[in-house]
Amino acid sequence: AAHSGSDPVRGYAPSMGQIFLRRFQLVTQFRSALETGQVSVHYQPKIALPSRQVVGVEALVRWRHPEFGQLDPDEFVPAVEATGLVDALTSFVMEQGLQRVRSWLDRGLRMSAAVNLSVRNLADANFPDLVAEALRRYDVPPQLLTFELTESGVMSDPERALPVLRRLHAMGVTLAVDDFGTGYSSLAYLRQLPVDEVKIDKSFVLGMGTDLSDMAVVRAIVELGHSLGLTVVAEGVEEDSAREQLVSMGCDVAQGYLISRPLSEERFEAWLRARTIR
Ligand code: C2E
Ligand code: CA
Ligand code: CA
Ligand code: CA
Repeated sequence: AAHSGSDPVRGYAPSMGQIFLRRFQLVTQFRSALETGQVSVHYQPKIALPSRQVVGVEALVRWRHPEFGQLDPDEFVPAVEATGLVDALTSFVMEQGLQRVRSWLDRGLRMSAAVNLSVRNLADANFPDLVAEALRRYDVPPQLLTFELTESGVMSDPERALPVLRRLHAMGVTLAVDDFGTGYSSLAYLRQLPVDEVKIDKSFVLGMGTDLSDMAVVRAIVELGHSLGLTVVAEGVEEDSAREQLVSMGCDVAQGYLISRPLSEERFEAWLRARTIR
């Protein structure tokens, strides 16, 4: 949505006071927004390379705000993350995702759902219990739930995050490192984490066609990931040429606008039907 930053219609930038006010409004309204159905989850497919088989989705939150219109996560997730409400957000997205996985399983489709975690989830010693309970309730194999975590999320408090990650991993949940390549201590960090998957940051994948150093970074991450026994996922795949290059590098999974934009539940299900039933 084009609602943050400068106003494209009136052409002025909001003042600090306006930004603060809006952030405050969003935080105070978020819980009731969850309860009244303004918040929903969109799904973006991930495909295996080179087969193009759909292996899962990333679950991405959206907020249809009565006053501000459709809000993208970067416009409210940081504000929500600064409060205890992020627990409610993560639970909501996880529940929606597990519901989808359950309904795919019922149709004979084995696809995973990936949920983005916040620092606060990783600092919550009870979080793995919540996850285990939800997996039982939906009767979903833990492998079909993926959590995506960022370096800053883990490294802000590794003493608290690591035990949580180890428990999730021991339960069989899939763990992925998101936005890989953007941090500064990436290699050391990757080796010490109990993770299964690494997602190459979209900035490198988007730059691959025009920038040889981006290409080199992508190739290096694919090799590094494989040498550590990890599944390598590329996000931000917009061009067929990028997909072809990723195939030639041996990258395992692709996600991006080339395959599909994130879609509402209804539209994603239609996309899936058109793709799997020919
Ligand atoms: P992310 O985890 O890196 O998610 C991928 C973002 O890249 C999504 O933006 C997606 O729409 C976008 N994207 C996908 N394919 C392409 C492509 O081919 N080209 C380009 N240019 N972009 C692509 P989105 O949905 O706006 O989400 C932004 C961020 O908000 C996410 O980045 C994630 O960090 C955060 N987020 C989203 N949902 C949640 C959530 O439920 N909880 C938390 N804590 N964070 C969330
Ligand atoms: Ca935006
Ligand atoms: Ca992500
Ligand atoms: Ca990412």
